[in-house]
Amino acid sequence: GVVLAQDFDFFYFVQQWPGSYCDTKKSCCYPTTGKPDADFGIHGLWPNYKDGSYPSNCDPDTPFDPSKISDLKSTMQSSWPTLACPSGNGMTFWSHEWVKHGTCSESILNQHDYFDSALNLKKQVDLLNILQSAGINPDGGFYSLRAITNAITQATGYAPGIECNIDESGNSQLYQIYLCVDTSGTNFIKCPLLPSGKCSSSIEFPSF
Ligand code: 5GP
Ligand code: 5GP
Ligand code: 5GP
Repeated sequence: GVVLAQDFDFFYFVQQWPGSYCDTKKSCCYPTTGKPDADFGIHGLWPNYKDGSYPSNCDPDTPFDPSKISDLKSTMQSSWPTLACPSGNGMTFWSHEWVKHGTCSESILNQHDYFDSALNLKKQVDLLNILQSAGINPDGGFYSLRAITNAITQATGYAPGIECNIDESGNSQLYQIYLCVDTSGTNFIKCPLLPSGKCSSSIEFPSF
């Protein structure tokens, strides 16, 4: 087939705090494989442009093929669990991520390597451990956005993007953490652009 040129500048590697996904008006549903660990889970690895825009749904001819990630399935279930309702085994979430985002970097990472890269990135940076080592715990308490940002910056060398959502009582809470990765999908880099994350200066870190 036609060889497509790489057409993006970097990846956002996005992880979600399950307690914050679930602690919303929409609530959540645990996967059919059971309640995930109280740890950050992968949301996605998203090709992006330096101006903040991004490509999506790049190749209808390469649909998600579960057989290509059979060796990764159990690691995916623990590191990339789905929390949307209705409960699922993850395949719908992973398929969505591949079709919308993964197909936009497929000139560099095939489907297997796309998911494998994300799993390896998660292993390289243990966000929960970084935060807990700085005294920032998922205990329902409020922490300064600055303290959270500083802890991750000091541990990784790069400033993260922090995204918040709103809990059922209207509090701003720690929802997603964005790190930037080079186009090979292997090395963390300084973010060319940080997403604007809608956080208050003091945010809740709910338990899960
Ligand atoms: P939301 O509107 O919940 O922030 O984002 C909805 C979806 O848009 C995300 O799940 C993701 O697929 C996509 N998206 C949001 N922001 C970005 C971004 O900065 N870069 C990329 N590549 N995708 C994004
Ligand atoms: P995005 O388009 O923002 O990359 O991905 C969000 C889509 O994946 C939504 O359609 C959402 O329903 C689905 N999804 C399934 N499981 C999850 C989950 O655990 N977290 C998030 N953020 N989205 C999920
Ligand atoms: P999507 O179209 O991406 O499924 O969902 C749109 C938005 O609603 C995303 O921000 C996604 O995270 C959120 N969302 C979708 N399904 C659920 C759910 O079951 N629970 C929660 N808390 N959020 C959801």
